[in-house]
Amino acid sequence: MTENILVSVAWPYSNADIHVGNITGAYLPADVFARFHRLKGNRVLMVSGTDAHGTPITVRADAEGVTAEEIYRRYHRRFLDLFLAFGLTYDLFTTTHTENHYRVSQDIFLALKENGYLYTQKEKQWYESGKGRFLPDRYVEGECYICHYPNARGDQCDNCGNLLDSVQLINPRAKGGGQLELRETEHFYLDLGILAPALADYLSRDKDHWRPNVINRSRQDVAELHERAITRDLDWGIPVPVEGWAGKCLYVWFEAVIGYFSASIEWSKNQGEPEAWKDWWYASKAKTFYFIGKDNIPFHAVIWPGQLLGARRLYESDLGKSLNLPYDVPANEFLNLEGQKISGSRNWAVWGHEAVERYDPDALRYYLLANMPEAKDADWSWAEFVARNNNELVATWGNLANRVLSFAYRNFDGKAPDPGELRPDDTGLLARVEAGFDSVGELLSAVKLRAALAEALRVASEVNRYLDGQAPWTAIKTDRAAAAKTVYTALRAIDSLKILFAPFLPFTSEKLHQYFGYDGSLFGTQKIVEYKESQSTHEALTYDPAGATGEWKPSQLKGGQPLRQPGPLFKKLDEKVAEEEVARLHGGK
Ligand SMILES: [Zn+2]
Repeated sequence: MTENILVSVAWPYSNADIHVGNITGAYLPADVFARFHRLKGNRVLMVSGTDAHGTPITVRADAEGVTAEEIYRRYHRRFLDLFLAFGLTYDLFTTTHTENHYRVSQDIFLALKENGYLYTQKEKQWYESGKGRFLPDRYVEGECYICHYPNARGDQCDNCGNLLDSVQLINPRAKGGGQLELRETEHFYLDLGILAPALADYLSRDKDHWRPNVINRSRQDVAELHERAITRDLDWGIPVPVEGWAGKCLYVWFEAVIGYFSASIEWSKNQGEPEAWKDWWYASKAKTFYFIGKDNIPFHAVIWPGQLLGARRLYESDLGKSLNLPYDVPANEFLNLEGQKISGSRNWAVWGHEAVERYDPDALRYYLLANMPEAKDADWSWAEFVARNNNELVATWGNLANRVLSFAYRNFDGKAPDPGELRPDDTGLLARVEAGFDSVGELLSAVKLRAALAEALRVASEVNRYLDGQAPWTAIKTDRAAAAKTVYTALRAIDSLKILFAPFLPFTSEKLHQYFGYDGSLFGTQKIVEYKESQSTHEALTYDPAGATGEWKPSQLKGGQPLRQPGPLFKKLDEKVAEEEVARLHGGK
């Protein structure tokens, strides 16, 4: 049965480049999952975009003396190029700075207001008298009043992960050192308190498939749920759609999560099927997945479901319908670098755009997936990157494919040999490889990507073992017919492995597909497109599934199929690479 799978991916803030920790935290697992479901024949919609608003962007703009819009456009373009290079197949990677997103966010706000989940309240807020402005939470730092970490941000503590109220910080100070005072202002609040029973009910049912850390954390958060301000005194963002509220905008946490929904609507419009989004957002057979880092669990597993429950529906006259709540939030833990926390400001990071200039995307994808921080924090080590590339990716998989294809191409007139009747050893191997479609597929369905990749590699090593036993390289001199059976069997196994590896290593699986002589490609194509709205334009990354022929099915390779001249899939890396990269990290070039 075809399922509708919504793959919602964390929205990067447009104030800094993306590093490998971000990629393995959310973007890459989402792509693997989306590609797997496309191969399965499911209807996938993978959406995200650049988070253009919020104070991280205005902080950066102030520091550089440019506008927030310039900062957002610069980083957005860099994200598009990076995701294209990494092969992240977003159906739509857009931005929150679109007319569509403004309208949808304002409509959700108004729906919540209409349904009685918003109220206004006057409150004291930090004000910087020197600059004559209210200070957003991010502009205030101080000691966390929960864990006593001394450098907590006003909105969230990086140490304990709790969301904070900046007014309660101990020893608060303004970023930039200005004078702080508390002044009265008025804001809209989302009454999460009245939504708490419904959220607790949602989190109590059918959550066995959730990762333990995510469900435990979420249940704990619901128990302590209280109202949150959803507007703020800031001019960079989406205006509050209520008369008399000029100069205030929707809080970025409130509107950025709405992006999953607004991007689905934008994608539908771009397709010329403006109602298509309903197949993921209302349909009962749709499953919605949210790929995020663990620091974002409260926003996606508790607060966003609260917004959806409160708004109920949009643009839908059928009163029986309500927006789908997250089916799963497979949040990842963090990736460290050479034993230390990744830090952009200290330049202790492997930047995505630099990594993909120096290494092939599948080599990077392999290490990031094999070492993905799914259940606990993981560490990026350059020595391990080189070792696993050489000892696993190249030795177990790349050499296997290259050796067998080259041998067949050379010794059997550029064709897959005709095997005649297969022997029990041959059919036994093919059965074990076919079983991989179930074992790898079950792990992928359960978002256990690390284990799924390890299982695919285990299947590849079965083929290596089979070849060691059959040794067609020597058999061909004495028994050409036996060698033909072995080479055919190994080719067919590799043709299947090509699919098992395709969600993880799409670039090399496409190459293999060509070497096997097939026409067409396994997946569709990606491109950067410019979209025009009435007042503005924006660029987006899109995925076009047209022409994709890949299927999650064992190979039916025919004897006699013409092959194409094969080449190596992966590069063996010199051990010096690790030393050079570590030196670069420590400030060398
Ligand atoms: Zn804390």
